Amino acid sequence: YIAMFEDDITAEHTHLEISPAAILGICASIIPFPEHNQSPRNTYEAGMVKQALGLFAANMHLRLDTRGHTLHYPQQPLVKTSPMEIIGFNKRPAGQNFIIAMMSFEGFNIEDAIIINKASIERGLARSHFFRTYDAEERKYPGGEVDKFEIPERGVRGFKSAESYRLLSEEDGIIEPETQVNGGDVLIGRTSPPRFIKSYEEFELMQPNRRETSKNMRHNEKGIVDTVIISETVDGNKLVKIKVRDLRIPELGDKFSSRHGQKGVLGMTVDEPDMPFTSNGVIPDIIVNPHAMPSRMTLGQLFEGISGKIACSTGKLGDATAFEWKDITKLQEELVNAGFEFNGRETMYNGITGEKYEAGIYCAPIYYQKLYHLVADKIHARARGPVQILTRQPTEGRAREGGLRFGEMERDCLVGHGSALLLKERLLDESDRTVILVCEKCGLLAVYDRNRDKKYCPVCGEGTIISKVVCSYAFKLLLQEMMSLGLAPRLKLKEKI
Ligand SMILES: [Zn+2]
Repeated sequence: YIAMFEDDITAEHTHLEISPAAILGICASIIPFPEHNQSPRNTYEAGMVKQALGLFAANMHLRLDTRGHTLHYPQQPLVKTSPMEIIGFNKRPAGQNFIIAMMSFEGFNIEDAIIINKASIERGLARSHFFRTYDAEERKYPGGEVDKFEIPERGVRGFKSAESYRLLSEEDGIIEPETQVNGGDVLIGRTSPPRFIKSYEEFELMQPNRRETSKNMRHNEKGIVDTVIISETVDGNKLVKIKVRDLRIPELGDKFSSRHGQKGVLGMTVDEPDMPFTSNGVIPDIIVNPHAMPSRMTLGQLFEGISGKIACSTGKLGDATAFEWKDITKLQEELVNAGFEFNGRETMYNGITGEKYEAGIYCAPIYYQKLYHLVADKIHARARGPVQILTRQPTEGRAREGGLRFGEMERDCLVGHGSALLLKERLLDESDRTVILVCEKCGLLAVYDRNRDKKYCPVCGEGTIISKVVCSYAFKLLLQEMMSLGLAPRLKLKEKI
């Protein structure tokens, strides 16, 4: 029989609950006033805290994680919960206290977009760094062959151009710290022995036929070489690890969230003189849209702001542990005692015209998180680029410099508009267009023999009419796959209209 509070204990009780807030897990424990939020919002936030950028480890300068983000000036929240102290969140915080104003602004914060004060960004608000570690090893191969860190010489198979290796040190073929690097730049120059010993023997007298196996920066990523570490593996091979850092200043499209599942993307940065200001001269860091409140019912966020305002004026951090506040009106009393309006609103003025806003505007410090989904990691476009070997269609995905899918629904649009030539251009000419040879007698694929400059049909021989047909390479592949199943896909050709 468990008592919730010490005062409840009777002779029948055997146990005492530590705290009602202990019902929540680590992630949900970070939410202030969770009992005042609609429950799905707490669920969203419990998922989102994991994406917040912060100080993930105090020894991050010494670590070589494959990738990681670090927030520049992480702050403890003004409004805390008691589990936060226990789990060490205050020592490794993930967020900053933003002054928010809850109002519409020029229509640039509709649909959960947020507006940020440009001056706040310039002061370092929500700045972070992205790190990635690249590594390379000098492997030893059976037969005494070894990899070598060096600037590859002309004639090495896969040699790029002298320009590509300009950043590398002449001495060891490794890039220097504090070098600015862009996508595709070589970080570690390396050559390896040929893959097959046989091909080596053939060319032995001509030149050492080594291949280029340098480590390059990822496409779509840039940065500055932060750390270069030269070490050894357990097998005694030379090992190089290079950490590259990239500054991430908040930009349009970056994702932010309060601790109440109220996420949004940056929709506009506004010059500080154009930002609205309160009668006390406070200029908010961000402006969020009031439409985020009524349907989502995250009252906890409003209470957090009120508690944060009290914390600012009294110098005492607010406590918002779950189920601790039985009477929220006490919070309002404290706010009034601190000299504010009871509902957290302020008289504000338009920064552009100087006019006073008729409505009082909710303006308060609220703890905001910069989330992991940054535009710099997602932005992607392509004109020309690599294709898959099998289908000759453009590759998929940003990491492979892929094309943007022109899917079924997009196709339906063009069909609906009757724009047949545009449809052909997207799906054929700009994709995997090929010319195949077809024997008009049997309808099967014909062959062109380049050595004899002759076309012939593998079935009917040389005497038949062989025509060129334009089709997608994927269709040619389909014909050949059917043939591999023992089917004979025959094309019946007609004159092109
Ligand atoms: Zn034929």
